Amino acid sequence: MGRIRIENLSRKFADFTAVDNIDLDIRDGDFLVLLGPSGCGKTTLLRMLAGLLAPTSGRILLDDDDITAAPSRRRDVAMVFQSYALYPHLSVAKNLAFPLRVKKMRKSEAAERVDAVARQLDIAHLLDRKPKELSGGQRQRVAVGRAIVRDPKAFLMDEPLSNLDAKLRTATRRELTDLHRRLRATFVYVTHDQVEAMTMATRIALLNNGALEQVGTPEDVYDRPASVFVAGFLGSPAMNLLDARVRTVDGTVVASAEGVTAPLWRGQTDGRDVVLGIRPEHLRVADPVDHPGVRLSVDVTSVENLGSEQVAYCEVGGATVCVRAPRPIALRAHRSAALTADPAHVHLFDRATGRRLE
Ligand code: ATP
Repeated sequence: MGRIRIENLSRKFADFTAVDNIDLDIRDGDFLVLLGPSGCGKTTLLRMLAGLLAPTSGRILLDDDDITAAPSRRRDVAMVFQSYALYPHLSVAKNLAFPLRVKKMRKSEAAERVDAVARQLDIAHLLDRKPKELSGGQRQRVAVGRAIVRDPKAFLMDEPLSNLDAKLRTATRRELTDLHRRLRATFVYVTHDQVEAMTMATRIALLNNGALEQVGTPEDVYDRPASVFVAGFLGSPAMNLLDARVRTVDGTVVASAEGVTAPLWRGQTDGRDVVLGIRPEHLRVADPVDHPGVRLSVDVTSVENLGSEQVAYCEVGGATVCVRAPRPIALRAHRSAALTADPAHVHLFDRATGRRLE
């Protein structure tokens, strides 16, 4: 088992709060991705789980054990660092065997384990080499291998793919997902890369300024972002976020702004300041016979061709909106156009709190 419960966990550096009162239940077998912009506290949180940094307050439980104050070596977790942290003077075999030596495992048993893990990760032919004689991708595997040999309850990974080139990163993403499936272990994985999070996570925990914004499956956080921050962070190009105000027009409640009208089917109070969120892929060019729920009158500024699809940037009431559609997109630069969206795809947030409105 490898369930990690994080209760009211905080970490301050002098009077700066890097991790702010986080409650998070990481289930056994989860591939939980800690996602957020640079400086939001991901690494600080992971280091507290690893026992490399003491919390200022709160508790960490691994299964039923309170490990908050346990030293790193006493925790049944293994960390894979961004830098890989391999011992440069030791061969791959000795690097892999190192955690087992610390555990005082018999030499023959340790050698067997190292062989098994090396075969599993396809690095058996590299066992006699030193880290400097390996490619970045091979080093990354050795670092993962060194975590696997310990057979820990949980793997903690801090941006392990960030030193790989784009192509290798894609391949390694698939390998890690595969490995997670085979090991059936708990993974806690730090990244600021939303593609890594969306493709690998069973659940994503989104952090902002040290606090948890939302926890959910990749689909949950993408389809039902809990806040303007989450809405803007996930998705490329980003979700269009338009300031609007709730009004009643001819007996219908709408959110409106210059050039924008969206009927609201959720009970809202007149005068409330809101943010309308519409993903670029959910905006389409309005057909003249459309009776669109959502209406945007825009001026097209530019159209980019991405090969299989096109992205158009438009102006509406001083804001920029982005439209993404398969080629050919029926929008021309320097023309005006009418856009629409299915109201089911419109997200509504309170402007004062930034939280989603239902
Ligand atoms: P990145 O993606 O850039 O690695 P992160 O989300 O992992 O960022 P952390 O490394 O957890 O962010 O840092 C969170 C905040 O805490 C940052 O503002 C950072 O400057 C601060 N911080 C981290 N470690 C220390 C420290 N030892 N002393 C003072 N401030 C620190």
